[in-house]
Amino acid sequence: MRRIAIVGGGQAGLPLALGLLDKGYEVTVVTNREPDDIRRGKVMSSQCMFDASLQIERNLGLNQWEAECPTVDGIGLAIPHPERPGHKLIDWVARLDRSAQAVDQRIKMPAWMELFAARGGRLLIQDGGVAELELLAASHDLVLLAAGKGEVVKLFERDALRSRFDRPQRALALTYVHGMRPAPDYSRVAFNLIPGVGEYFVFPALTVSGPCEIMVFEGVPGGPMDCWRDIRSPQEHLAQSLHILHTYLPWEAERCSAVELTDANGILAGSFAPTVRKPVLTLPSGRLVFGLGDAVVTNDPITGQGSNNATKACAVYLDAILAHGDGAYTADWMQRTFERFWDYGGAVVEWTNSMLLPPAPHLLKLLQAADHTPALASIIANGFNHPPSLFPWWGDATACEAFIAAQPARAAA
Ligand SMILES: Cc1cc2nc3c(=O)[nH]c(=O)nc-3n(C[C@H](O)[C@H](O)[C@H](O)COP(=O)(O)OP(=O)(O)OC[C@H]3O[C@@H](n4cnc5c(N)ncnc54)[C@H](O)[C@@H]3O)c2cc1C
Repeated sequence: MRRIAIVGGGQAGLPLALGLLDKGYEVTVVTNREPDDIRRGKVMSSQCMFDASLQIERNLGLNQWEAECPTVDGIGLAIPHPERPGHKLIDWVARLDRSAQAVDQRIKMPAWMELFAARGGRLLIQDGGVAELELLAASHDLVLLAAGKGEVVKLFERDALRSRFDRPQRALALTYVHGMRPAPDYSRVAFNLIPGVGEYFVFPALTVSGPCEIMVFEGVPGGPMDCWRDIRSPQEHLAQSLHILHTYLPWEAERCSAVELTDANGILAGSFAPTVRKPVLTLPSGRLVFGLGDAVVTNDPITGQGSNNATKACAVYLDAILAHGDGAYTADWMQRTFERFWDYGGAVVEWTNSMLLPPAPHLLKLLQAADHTPALASIIANGFNHPPSLFPWWGDATACEAFIAAQPARAAA
């Protein structure tokens, strides 16, 4: 049977490893953290996954937490009114056709690593660099590098044509809490856009201590929400989170009168540049390495797509490997496989990048129109599950006008 090695045991690498193992492949996973180190470590993501991605995990039998994890049943958008403090300029909410869920990667990844080893996979805990990639490439038919944002992924050349930015576009922070008052009517990603300052979104999830809410802060660099560098303790981090809500989003602050951190590691702050890299790496020996997940397509979390992308790329690669049978894993095969993913992922990148720029006038009009056009709100909300469905109109002012005009507005009361 063919031998496949995957460097990086995360949201992209582990489902692929388990999927291949299931089909009888001999699989090695090289990853740099022990399961218990991940369990006891800091949160890494807010990892909200929409139905199409959850379905891929279901198909692979990797949906162990589905019954326990709270569901996210809708998407809401609020924009504070620029002249009337405490009021909203835009305020709509729409149901997702199918629920989303977010299971803390501190729960998922260790469990999947242990499952992989228990099913006969070869799990090596070590840092993968050029030397290790060379060894793996000499002893395996195919080597994938799925090391997320690890330094090693910089071995892949940045794709300047597909990368719009060369520096971080947001100062990011996560705050995992218990005790938040639920959103009214149904659970949701409550997305708040504060022009010129940043974004805040919050949704229910499952963490190591049970159901929680994950607060995500996206601060425009140099602005008042780019404020995490001098934070010295988890309690200061929580206090800063609440300060932002009290200052800009009083309706969100109201939900937080009784919140506490889920645990001292339920916080994160940092930043990275959204980047697309070329997916084929040639090692000094001439052997090839194929990139997967964040290693080659890193999106800002503003649209919550990274884990979704990683999972969808994993499904494309798994199909391609299975369909390839005994064929050689050439650079051409790798590039074609990546392009199959990019047919989907390119739209995700374009959509996500558009959210990082000051909103184009047609997008402001679209988001405003959704306020009184529930069909539009529903289409935008469900676009999170499949972002290509938002095109061409998301990126084209004329198409957007026509699209808005074609939606039935809410009947007058
Ligand atoms: C603040 C924040 C919020 C987010 N929120 C969401 C969200 O709501 N929804 C969503 O879909 N996505 C979200 N994401 C993105 C999502 O977490 C990632 O896109 C996803 O985890 C990528 O999966 P991956 O397997 O490519 O990388 P990872 O999950 O990062 O896995 C990479 C693995 O490789 C290992 N590794 C790294 N370097 C090496 C090395 N040299 N050798 C061996 N192993 C190595 C790492 O330890 C890790 O286990 C968020 C990200 C951030 C930062």
